[in-house]
Amino acid sequence: MHANYSEFNKLQLHLNCMASSKNKKSSVLIIYTGGTIGMVQQPKSGTLTPVRFEQILHEVPELNKFNLNIKTEVLNPVIDSSNMNTSNWEKIAKKIKKHYNDFDGFVILHGTDTMAYTASALSYMFDNLDKPIILTGSQLPIGMLRTDGKENLITSVEIAAAQKNGKSLVPEVCVYFDFKLFRGNRTVKSDSELFSAFHSVNYPELAIAGVDIKYSNEYIYHPGNKGILKVNTNFNDNVVILKIFPGISQNVFNSILNIPGLKGVVLETFGSGNVPTSRWLINCIKRAIKKDIIILNITQCEGGRVVMGQYETSIELLNVGVVSGKDMTVEAAITKLMFLLGQGLHTEDVKIYLNKSLRGEISE
Ligand code: ASP
Repeated sequence: MHANYSEFNKLQLHLNCMASSKNKKSSVLIIYTGGTIGMVQQPKSGTLTPVRFEQILHEVPELNKFNLNIKTEVLNPVIDSSNMNTSNWEKIAKKIKKHYNDFDGFVILHGTDTMAYTASALSYMFDNLDKPIILTGSQLPIGMLRTDGKENLITSVEIAAAQKNGKSLVPEVCVYFDFKLFRGNRTVKSDSELFSAFHSVNYPELAIAGVDIKYSNEYIYHPGNKGILKVNTNFNDNVVILKIFPGISQNVFNSILNIPGLKGVVLETFGSGNVPTSRWLINCIKRAIKKDIIILNITQCEGGRVVMGQYETSIELLNVGVVSGKDMTVEAAITKLMFLLGQGLHTEDVKIYLNKSLRGEISE
């Protein structure tokens, strides 16, 4: 009798939980980090600077019409995203980790200038992510009549809350901008004026927002068996992006590869991964690799991939041990290099991981 009664209590509790989770409103945490979306023009200088977050919410009363539980957090201090750095990535990631169990999704309001870098960095930082983290912002401040910020924010919130059978529709780090949802680590900022400021040339959009939001489920990453969320916050910033150009001098090239403490180089090459065939250039790279500096080959082209050995102008890079970045963006590549170097791995392991997909940033 006693046992039956306690079984009954358990069942009752289970049913109550099911009922309350059914009725429970979805919840979204908006993290405001700064950027044009929340900026105002300073009367004297005319420059744009970030403002208080309450002003943003005040400009978008539409958010209250969602049947959602929306809460907000603010990065302290709010910044123009040109001031983004690894410690801000850590602050953002820790905020998400702290509130992870209390929300169904996260929206990060961020300046457009470095949004693709932050989206890439965050994508590597989380293990076992199974909720959406949507970065968005705008080209015009939210207080302006023609702002693109309202649509970007409202739809990002809707996507962050979107679920099917109790599971998030887009459980990855994304950028939403101008009616398109992209995998974050595949995006680049491609225009400083147009509302369509972002592109993802080597990977299709995850969703398009029109009358309905149409999700391309086949391109969205769906995690299998999950553990608890883990955040890795270490980055190594002893890295450089070195863009090859016709006429690059031995002196400049050599000086950069000899920076004391240098650990990694994203080498931005021509076309499918090509560089001048000058002996001094190959020798300089060879010496750097001998010193355990990792050289990652990324194309300067927006689309396509590095194929070392396709031309005479890249075969030597392959021979001396340059790593192919395949079709990664520069943003995904430099943040991945900083992240992997920060994890205390052996150089050879960093090279192996650079070449593999960690979070869908590279097509293998
Ligand atoms: N400079 C601004 C920023 O990145 C530009 C923007 O938000 O669009 O913070």
